[in-house]
Parts: sequence; structure tokens; C-alpha cells
Amino acid sequence: MTNKELMDEDLKHIFHPCSQMKDYEKLPLIPIKKGKASYIEDFEENVYLDCISSWWVNIFGHSNDYINQKINEQLQDLEHVIFAGFTHKPAITLAKRLVDLTPEPLQKIFFADNGSSAIEISLKMAFQYFKNKGESRPLFVSLQNSYHGETMGALAVSDTGLYKDIYNDILIKALHAKTPSLHDEDEAIEDMRRVLKENEGKVSSVVIEPLIQCAGGMLMYDASYITKLRAVCDEFGVFLIADEIAVGFGRTGTMFAIEQANITPDFLCLSKGITGGYMPLSVVMFTDDIYNAFYCDYNEGKSFLDSHSYTGNTIACAVANAVLDIFEKDNVIEENKKKSKLIREKTQRFKTLDNVLEVRQRGMVCAIELKKLDSNRRINLEIFQEALSKGVYIRPLGNTIYFMPPYCFTDEELNKMIDVTYEIVESII
Ligand SMILES: *Cc1c(COP(=O)(O)O)cnc(C)c1O
Repeated sequence: MTNKELMDEDLKHIFHPCSQMKDYEKLPLIPIKKGKASYIEDFEENVYLDCISSWWVNIFGHSNDYINQKINEQLQDLEHVIFAGFTHKPAITLAKRLVDLTPEPLQKIFFADNGSSAIEISLKMAFQYFKNKGESRPLFVSLQNSYHGETMGALAVSDTGLYKDIYNDILIKALHAKTPSLHDEDEAIEDMRRVLKENEGKVSSVVIEPLIQCAGGMLMYDASYITKLRAVCDEFGVFLIADEIAVGFGRTGTMFAIEQANITPDFLCLSKGITGGYMPLSVVMFTDDIYNAFYCDYNEGKSFLDSHSYTGNTIACAVANAVLDIFEKDNVIEENKKKSKLIREKTQRFKTLDNVLEVRQRGMVCAIELKKLDSNRRINLEIFQEALSKGVYIRPLGNTIYFMPPYCFTDEELNKMIDVTYEIVESII
């Protein structure tokens, strides 16, 4: 079948995510037949360099031999089992490994199956923790320009008008403090202090995306903000939720972004890279203190009764263990330092272009923000199409082109990604 035939079949029935379906009249869907390492290939033998790790999940590229082998092994024994009342080895192993990799106070793990659910779980637990102690704290605080997912609770703590405003009437109450990625760090901290002070005793948690506000345009800020925020949360007795769904697993140069701030959050949410793009899985990690607030006789009514059908899926956990194996055996964090350096050096020349506003980078994320053009022009789609015709897949967010390549990119592939993009940006009029 050709690309076109498959697209026509698709469009008869499928409503795609994050899409205005009418756009596909002009901007064809691309049916993908296979993927290997850094490349994906369509049904007409066009290959595309996947510079955004397929929405930030395929951290080791596509069809990794080691992960494939581990899935096959797991398939011989068990694919899935109910996770209430039952358990399995891949989950037990994974829990222990994640606890060992994260700050010591994070000793407990709740499994779910996507990032938004992990956020919902952390918000629910934070609220119920205080409820179980006889307090009602119905408010949540997040940062301006934040993104935490699309389910109602996750959307409520997000501040991305585009995805959220339509639903404002039906969302839980969240407050947004100034973000350090758009304001001076101390000003942002003071604003957080103001919000917490004005709502003292009513806020259960503050939720942030450490170091990079990804969906909000790859805006970046320094670890020192997180260190200061930890102290402010302690001062007001509210929980700090670190949403590392996008930045966890090596993206910012350390295994987890919070390491750079040298703090422990009360909740740590992980997903995306956790299975290298193979299976939906997420986890929420938290402290013994939080765990103990739910631990009692059933009739006391303090249980946390959240559940998802695919919670702790066995294959997903086996894949996550394979991902952690690769981090160890291939010394990924160290290898990424060399790749980040190459990206940094090679992207400097974007700064010389008149239409570039800023180039920013944290580890394996690099963003090139263009100056504003005519607001009716959908420059992101133009750039996407132009790059695609040259065999490079990027998916700019508004005016911001960004790279989030899989960690398997070779130097040659990194060069191609940057050179092709440079040519395009240079030629934009
Ligand atoms: C993607 C993302 C989410 C939501 O995860 P889903 O699996 O898409 O529901 C939440 N927070 C951040 C920071 C994300 O990047």
C-alpha cells in the first residue's frame, strides 16, 4: 500500500491527538512502516531522522535489539497480571532499582500507565494526606506556562491556555506563581511565597517541571530556583511534586533533573523515557511519611483506592528494567555529555541569524526560538514540512524549534539534524 492509501484508510475512522483533523487535508499523515535506531521509515521508503524521540519517549531510538530481546524473554513467562493482590518480579526489581537511583527519602512507589495519571495520583495523594490528618487543603499551586498533562486534574495545574481555557469552568482550583523561566529567579520565588502566604493552610502541594517547561515552549531555568523552592515549600508545610515525566532518565544531563538542585521532592512523577517508547508506564515515588498517612485498618477510611487497569503491566516493567540496564552498561549519562557538547558547539551559529531570538540548552534538549513573525503564519508547520522533505523530523512548538534526539544519535546524525535545520532557518523570510 502507498502512503496515500493508508492515510485515506486512517482518516475514515481515526481522530488523532493534538491535531486539527482538517489540517490533514493539506498536511498529509505519514504512515510509518518501521523504525530502527535514529530513523523511522514510511511505506514509500522515505526515511526520517527522529530528532524528537517520537514525542520525547524513544530515548534509545527505535527497535533496540536489547530491549526486544528482554521483551521476548518476558513474554515466555507472563505478559500481565492484576496488580491488586498480586505482584510480579519485573515490578519488584524495577521498584528497588528506582528507589536506589533517586534520593534516599523516596522509598515508596505507586504504578500507573501514563504521565497524566501519575500527576493525578500525586495531586490526589497530596490532598488526601492532609484529609487523613483532619485538614482540608483544596488548592494546588503550579508555575505560569506549566504543562502537566491533559486529564482534568493535570490540566487544572497546567497553564497552557491553548489546551486548557475551554475547560476552565469545570476544573479544580489551581493557582499559578511566576515562572523562573520568564522572570528573575528571586522575583519568582517571592511570588511563590506570596501565593502560599495568601492561601496559608489551603494549599496541599506545589507542582513543577524541573529545569525545563517543555510543552510550554522549552523554556528553561536554573536548578538554584528548585533549591530555593524546596525551602519555601518547607516553610509553608506544603508538598513539592517534581514532574520529571519529560526530563527524567537523562534528558537534562543527569539521570534526574532534581539531582542538579540537590533536593528531594515529596513526590517524583516519572513516565515517557521510562520504557524507551515501548510501553505506556508511569510511576509516582514518595516518602515513607506519605505512605504511612494511608496505612491503617481498612475501616478507618484512609486508604488510597486509586487504580488503573494496566497498572504495573509486567511487560512494561520488564522493558523499564531493560532501559535501566542500558543506562548502566552503555554509560549513557557520560556519553550524553559528549553529545550535548557537540550540540552546544554546533548550534552557536544560529545566534548569528537575524531571525533567531535565543538558543538555549540543558543537556540533550536544545531550543532555538525564532523572533515573532506574522501571527497568522504557522511557521512551525512550514519548518516541519521543509525539514521532512530533507529527511529530518522536527516538530517546532510555535516559534520554537527544538531538538530532543534519542541518545543513540551518532555525531553524524547530530550534525545532519543541526545542519538541515540551520539551512531552513537561514532561508526563512
Ligand atoms: C507528557 C507530559 C505529561 C503527561 O504525560 P502523558 O503520558 O502524555 O499523559 C505530564 N507532564 C509533563 C512534564 C509532560 O511532558
